[in-house]
Amino acid sequence: MRRVRGYVAFLALMLSGIGVVTLARIWRAGRTSRPEPADAIIVFGAAIWDTGPSATLRLRTMRGAELYARGLAPVVVCSGGTSGGLSEPRLMADLMIAQGVPTSALMLDEAGVTTRATIASLRGLGGGKWRRILAVSSPFHLFRIVEEARRHGITALPCPTRRPPSRGFRATLRLLCWDARQYARETVAVWAYRRPLKRLAAQFHARWRAFTGEVDAVRQSSVEIWALIRARQVPGESETAALPRLDWPVSGRMTSRFAMRRGRLHEGIDIRASHGTPVHPALGGVVLLAGELAGYGRVVVIGHSASYATVYAHLERIDVAEGDRVEPERPLGASGSTGRSFGPHLHFEVRFDGTAVDPLVFLEDPDRERAFTRRAELYGD
Ligand SMILES: [Zn+2]
Repeated sequence: MRRVRGYVAFLALMLSGIGVVTLARIWRAGRTSRPEPADAIIVFGAAIWDTGPSATLRLRTMRGAELYARGLAPVVVCSGGTSGGLSEPRLMADLMIAQGVPTSALMLDEAGVTTRATIASLRGLGGGKWRRILAVSSPFHLFRIVEEARRHGITALPCPTRRPPSRGFRATLRLLCWDARQYARETVAVWAYRRPLKRLAAQFHARWRAFTGEVDAVRQSSVEIWALIRARQVPGESETAALPRLDWPVSGRMTSRFAMRRGRLHEGIDIRASHGTPVHPALGGVVLLAGELAGYGRVVVIGHSASYATVYAHLERIDVAEGDRVEPERPLGASGSTGRSFGPHLHFEVRFDGTAVDPLVFLEDPDRERAFTRRAELYGD
């Protein structure tokens, strides 16, 4: 528990560190203004309310018209999606015309729903010739535009909009809150835009799915194992006798216990073991099953008495056959990652009359650090 808290604290610290650095870069990009000659002026869209174009949208068109009037580029692209059923680019174009930009210099990009889409459509709009553009948007938005344009081989010169000074304390405070929200959102957006991070998130998600998925997949096979043990286990004479202590089947760190995982029971324990690590029977017995099951992958089941059996799943290799008498000294196979498993590990179960019970109750010296050393001493794994 304490270790988990440590990890969380470390992660939080890392994330806030990255967040602050990103925020600083967004802030700096928004404070840079480079109105220099370019191939085109791109004005990024903003919302249109019931009451008309938002202040943000008006400020952006004003800046775009101003840059055009200064003769910095021959074309103005109005980019955006729709808000409330109205086309942002069309309304922006109207505002541009009202501010003296000739229709012939205007281009509409109605597919510019997102920053990424807008930048991607520049190639088509400029016939692949645009290399330098003037990006007109709100200060907080420019860092992401510059980064995204660079990925497309286009230099975006930031031209942030400027807000007229606000009057009164309350108005200032409201604007400050609005800004804080925009910057926070943008910090997240910058990271969500980065492909390596997206890939990393996808990988993590896949791993997590595989990890929790083990329980689901294993469940089906678990029922088969239950039936199989009940069918094959030969009734013995002393069923009241307690099971002798079990040896740890493999040397490694226990990564998962016999416990509920996402509302379902994880019916064994997972012990991390690299590919090819020898796996030993936890106790002498007869091999009831040596084969393959969907969730368990290559699996060995050993019957120890009329009631007790142990299960070894996700094996890479099986070195015993059904009906063999086995002893803990000789490996039954090697650990791996077959079946529904992420990364090599041994899924180990103890079954009583076919039903899985907590292996830690039976394992010799459940204090695992010492137990594993013992395993290694005994068999030299
Ligand atoms: Zn498991």
